[in-house]
Amino acid sequence: MLLSRFLPALLIGMGLLPTQAASADDFADCLARLQPQARAKGVDSASYRRYTQDLQADLSVLELLDAQPEFVTPIWDYLAGLVDEQRVADGKAMLAQHHDLLERIASRYQVDKYTVVAVWGVESDYGRITGKRPLLTSLSTLSCHGRRQAFFRGEFFATLKLLQQGDLRSPDVTGSWAGAFGQTQFMPSTYARIAVDFDGDGHRDLVGSVPDALASTANYLRKAGWVAGADWGYEVKVPEQFPASLAGRGKRKPVSAWKAQGVTRIDGKPLPAASTPAAILLPTGKTGPAFLVQRNYDAIYSYNAAESYALAIALLSDRLRGGSGLRTPWPTDDPGLSRAERKELQKLLLGQGHAIGEPDGMIGDKTRRAIQAEQSRLGLQPADGRAGQKILRALRGN
Ligand code: CA
Repeated sequence: MLLSRFLPALLIGMGLLPTQAASADDFADCLARLQPQARAKGVDSASYRRYTQDLQADLSVLELLDAQPEFVTPIWDYLAGLVDEQRVADGKAMLAQHHDLLERIASRYQVDKYTVVAVWGVESDYGRITGKRPLLTSLSTLSCHGRRQAFFRGEFFATLKLLQQGDLRSPDVTGSWAGAFGQTQFMPSTYARIAVDFDGDGHRDLVGSVPDALASTANYLRKAGWVAGADWGYEVKVPEQFPASLAGRGKRKPVSAWKAQGVTRIDGKPLPAASTPAAILLPTGKTGPAFLVQRNYDAIYSYNAAESYALAIALLSDRLRGGSGLRTPWPTDDPGLSRAERKELQKLLLGQGHAIGEPDGMIGDKTRRAIQAEQSRLGLQPADGRAGQKILRALRGN
């Protein structure tokens, strides 16, 4: 689950958010008040005391809870980072390395192994990036402060129960600020509901066990309605006169109706059976790539309800299967950057004297401000701070 990186830190400086010191007693009181609710969810008193006694609120998560993205990422930038050559190569290596395991999982859950690996790649870069915020700290803070306390209490208690049951071994487990964690980036309540112990050691360990993580992803997709042997969908061509108003994931029709509208697969292969329910997606309107999506796309979508996210997994799964990627270009003259290119751009910005920190391929505020300064200096329009091919080429000097 990908997070906004923009923090209204000014609010704290201006005294508009409470400081941590002022609320320490309140926080301890809040944790004491929550214990009966936790007990009602199956967390015994000893576990509650053990895992909460040293907790301190971290109010910086409230900034993330309330952050409004200042910069809307175009879909081509999003996909350029998530479905880059490195993630494709890494995914193919994982398919080879875990071949037997993935075959067993595919057979047990009747789910496509390429999709399982694609989810793993997009969620945590194959287990490499799982979030750095202490889970219990974030979830206990969000249970006592902010505008979604009831929701986060459920996740907080679920985490405590996973610890009590021994699924989670360490209370120091880290994740996203909102509580998604481990190789599958499940929320704790999803973990409690969906996770499976596939390596048979008696623990459902989605942090340390690849077999548990991959099988749990497969279990998630199966419960979300995955249809064995079917595809997620295809890149398609829609005719000139196709009404854009017919597009949308919820606007399903039988494939025969789309055929009658003149929709064809871009690779010339036949569309699925005439009665199959499907929808047409036009993420950038009629000038960019078009997709026909079916039931399995919805299963992917349910993992993290965002269209660009589901497309990233679907398109990565196609690449892992050996496909060559989209045929239709996105409607931009300044395509997005892979993670390797983002790092290269950051190195070039450092070379120009911008103190943006260690190049990590993450485009945050500092990088964006430095890009904007360079765009202005080089006379590139618009000087919007966006990391694209144009500024990279300009700084490379070609
Ligand atoms: Ca296990």
